[in-house]
Amino acid sequence: MRVAVIGGGLIGMFAAYHLSKRGIEVVVLERHRTGAACSAGNAGWITPSIAVPVPAPHLRTTSLRWLLLPDSPLYIKPSALPRLAPWLWKFWRHCNAESFEHGCRALAELGADTMHQFDELESEGLQFEQQRVGLLMVFAKQAAMDAELKRLDWAGFEPLLRLTPEELRAKEPALEGRYAGAIHVPSERHLRPELLCAQIATRIHDAGVEIREGVEVHDFAFDGAHARSLDTSSGTIHADRFVIATGAEAGRLSRRCGSKLPIQAGKGYSVTVDNPTTAIGTPIYLDETKVGLAPYKGALRVAGTMELSGINLRLDRRRIAAFRRNAEREVPGIFDGDRVREWVGMRSLTPDGLPVIGRLPKTDNVFIASGHQMVGVKLAPSTGRVLSELIVDGTSSVDLEPFAPDRFSR
Ligand SMILES: Cc1cc2nc3c(=O)[nH]c(=O)nc-3n(C[C@H](O)[C@H](O)[C@H](O)COP(=O)(O)OP(=O)(O)OC[C@H]3O[C@@H](n4cnc5c(N)ncnc54)[C@H](O)[C@@H]3O)c2cc1C
Repeated sequence: MRVAVIGGGLIGMFAAYHLSKRGIEVVVLERHRTGAACSAGNAGWITPSIAVPVPAPHLRTTSLRWLLLPDSPLYIKPSALPRLAPWLWKFWRHCNAESFEHGCRALAELGADTMHQFDELESEGLQFEQQRVGLLMVFAKQAAMDAELKRLDWAGFEPLLRLTPEELRAKEPALEGRYAGAIHVPSERHLRPELLCAQIATRIHDAGVEIREGVEVHDFAFDGAHARSLDTSSGTIHADRFVIATGAEAGRLSRRCGSKLPIQAGKGYSVTVDNPTTAIGTPIYLDETKVGLAPYKGALRVAGTMELSGINLRLDRRRIAAFRRNAEREVPGIFDGDRVREWVGMRSLTPDGLPVIGRLPKTDNVFIASGHQMVGVKLAPSTGRVLSELIVDGTSSVDLEPFAPDRFSR
């Protein structure tokens, strides 16, 4: 069996990794370079404690305040509103407790083997700067901290350490905002995503996966429900099975296969400082401003914001300036260092906040893995594994019903 994986981000590469482990011949088709899109400049948090769907009940009130404010954590570009309205309406309807809890359970089940998988990658010799120092969630308001503790308790997360403002100051002296307290989840990890991308690309290449960069897939050729080949910028490419792993742009190729999937781009920014003058010891989530900090060897990455402005990589100067101001207010001098790099990436979003993993309903051999919103790094190994099971065995060890591609058309 030969499988063509379209898209060389972490999701596509982990699909290739698990398929090749099962002895399948795989070709990865990437229009630019592997691991250079959303999988590159993100925060690299491997944090099951906050692996939750984006549409959350509290967004019904806070998002109304945030919407249309260019410096808010969630922004919808006014000119994109008419086009996004049907998607936003679906998203809005999922901002309720029942949908959120269903999503949390599904994501937890899909990611149940995440830490084990990252341990295995390390034991195979891959080096991607995996750090096991936990995650610190920092709150300006006591009510927000109490709500998060309640959610973590509901999700069964432990151990959790509660830090008073004084304990927080002693742990992370660089934080200078006024805080109600913090929650430390010691079991969480983070890694350097660019290293993971480079290492997994090398690993699959060495395992015999053909990686073709600079190949853009335009369309499929079908015999009835059976996809025969791909029309690409490098000519026709044949395979027996196909995987669409094109991240935020997965909607376009899915439409070519008869499935109209509501996948949108949720743009995010990061700023990476080499040799920063600020010392941060733990990944930090600043709840009030929704900014994330990820300390690496010789670098600090500040990541965040969610912007709905369609599929494009335009970097909105006003928004990145506001994002930098917010971070600087909490950690003065945070961007001081040798070199500062700004980055923009498109998360793939679905209205229910869950990935789309499975076979496209109008085909018998085209599969999709997209919609990983804020959890695509932590769930890439698990997604690759369940997809390989589905393709090779026709069934998966994880219940994939919550992720079914046809759930939006039922
Ligand atoms: C600011 C920010 C912070 C984040 N932090 C975290 C985090 O801490 N932890 C976490 O788990 N997740 C995080 N994420 C989310 C994570 O980055 C994504 O979920 C993940 O990278 C998605 O991977 P992907 O392979 O689906 O997409 P991508 O990495 O975008 O890969 C898709 C690939 O498909 C290619 N492609 C598209 N169309 C075609 C075509 N027609 N033909 C050929 N190739 C094509 C693209 O060039 C691209 O390389 C963050 C995201 C952002 C924006």
